[in-house]
Amino acid sequence: MRTEPVLVSGLIEVCRATIAANTDSLCALDRAIGDGDHGTNMRRGCEAVSADGAKLSTLPFPDAVEEIGLTLVMNIGGAAGPLYGTLLMEMGRELRRRDETSEFSMVLKQAIDAVARRGRAQEGDKTLLDVLYPIQAALAERSPLGEIAIRAQRSASQTAPMKAMRGRASYLGDRSIGHVDPGASSCALLTTAICHYLEEHYPQ
Ligand code: ADP
Ligand code: MG
Repeated sequence: MRTEPVLVSGLIEVCRATIAANTDSLCALDRAIGDGDHGTNMRRGCEAVSADGAKLSTLPFPDAVEEIGLTLVMNIGGAAGPLYGTLLMEMGRELRRRDETSEFSMVLKQAIDAVARRGRAQEGDKTLLDVLYPIQAALAERSPLGEIAIRAQRSASQTAPMKAMRGRASYLGDRSIGHVDPGASSCALLTTAICHYLEEHYPQ
């Protein structure tokens, strides 16, 4: 797994830019089935990580990932902060526990399971897990990055017919049906940005 500083700072920047460009649309999705703050929450988190970018780039890759998770917990807020934070913190810890030959898909699986435990949620509950698990499956199948991005976007769209079982949207019951989940959407946007960045800078 590549761990150059440029990778860390490049990934931080593409994630920040993607969320900045989609803040309004994420808030609109959250207005439909939540309280309308998901875009601004995510933007605050990404800007905080970006402000720490220079320091993060000097850390070993697992430490940088864990530190990004901590920053996300402290700055995103809402339900999504602890969940995205757990994802990155667990990923960092798991990367540190394993050697470099480990499959990244296994690292991701551990981290997603930790998110599911944290949110007491599972696949099908209309949350960001409905994008995370399909991405993990695509990685385990060694799908090309472009296909992983497409799978992430399709998985986010597929949350529309689901009924929310967790988080604020679950208060709406059946009225949550027919809307894309905001957390699933931010997750698909970030995945797409990361895949395209890696495709461009680190062709497989
Ligand atoms: P809040 O709901 O506190 O306003 P956000 O709007 O930032 O927080 O995030 C909402 C997103 O968080 C949802 O769209 C969903 O994807 C995710 N989410 C909420 N609760 C849970 C949970 N218990 N487990 C997994 N994901 C959740
Ligand atoms: Mg919200």
